[in-house]
Amino acid sequence: SAPVLALSDLVVEYATRHGRLRSLDEATLSVAPGQIVALVGESGSGKSTLGMAAGRLLASNALHVGGRLSLAGRPVYGSGAVDGEPLRALRRDVLGFVFQNPVTALDPTMRIRRQMELACRGRREDRHERPVAELLQEIGLSDVSRVLRSYPHELSGGMAQRVGIAMALRRRPRLLIADEPTAAVDATLREQILRLLVSRCREVGCALLLLTHDLHAVAQHTEQIAVMYGGRVIEHGPTAEVLDHPSHPYTRALVAALPGAEKPGQRLEAIRGIPPVLHTACPGCAFAPRCPDALPECRSTRPVYAAVGGRKLTCHLHTGGTASRSAASARNG
Ligand code: SF4
Ligand code: MG
Repeated sequence: SAPVLALSDLVVEYATRHGRLRSLDEATLSVAPGQIVALVGESGSGKSTLGMAAGRLLASNALHVGGRLSLAGRPVYGSGAVDGEPLRALRRDVLGFVFQNPVTALDPTMRIRRQMELACRGRREDRHERPVAELLQEIGLSDVSRVLRSYPHELSGGMAQRVGIAMALRRRPRLLIADEPTAAVDATLREQILRLLVSRCREVGCALLLLTHDLHAVAQHTEQIAVMYGGRVIEHGPTAEVLDHPSHPYTRALVAALPGAEKPGQRLEAIRGIPPVLHTACPGCAFAPRCPDALPECRSTRPVYAAVGGRKLTCHLHTGGTASRSAASARNG
């Protein structure tokens, strides 16, 4: 069936005092209905921009430079993009968000019960509507009546994030975007909250795009992994396969840096170099300055996003490089 989210070569730049900053650089990604997908990358790789772009909710200095994005088949960026009330209705019907800091996402002046009731307003169909107490039970909160009476600051980070998840799913979105949902939660609860988030999405058939830099979390809970670097998705495939046999040199470095991969007494293999800050379009591969396998063409020719085996890759090593690509384009005439 049609993807719930599809990006094709999306380019987004921010206008800053220091000039244009490119955040998405021909990002391509597709999320199928109900799929649980991790979007992994260092900070600055473009994950949050991609997440907010899904609902055209970017900051006012963001500029759509090129490419397309569609949500449940409706164009959000690119030709024929919806706007105004149709855009707001699309967001309301399709998208939900869970943010890093659940307390700031809640209204500090309102008790939880009232906020949860208001969270469902404006939705067209109400046939799925459920009592708020039931929703809180489903997300594993035992002392429901106390939580409902509370103000956000009275809840622990873990409780507030559970409430955030229940509120986001109450509208029955088709795609939930969770941006570092456990970063502000006590370390001992992270695993539990993540498991809850994924299982609730599965139960209601909602696709999940989990934005994170935590590969450990991803390994256990997601079906697909998409790795971002320098504003592009550079590898995308089934999570277990990609983590067992990473193909892209950047994914290989990430997996090698996993604490679990550390042998006793051995230091973590840090990734050499610093992540790119892109002021202009990079002519070649953005990872070339840090890549141990870089080929001569990597600095001058941009690798394409291509299907290789069961995954998508953006790397000359795997897509045959310039020679085979020019041969291919000559053939295609
Ligand atoms: Fe390394 Fe070249 Fe692949 Fe980029 S395209 S990751 S520089 S081998
Ligand atoms: Mg971010």
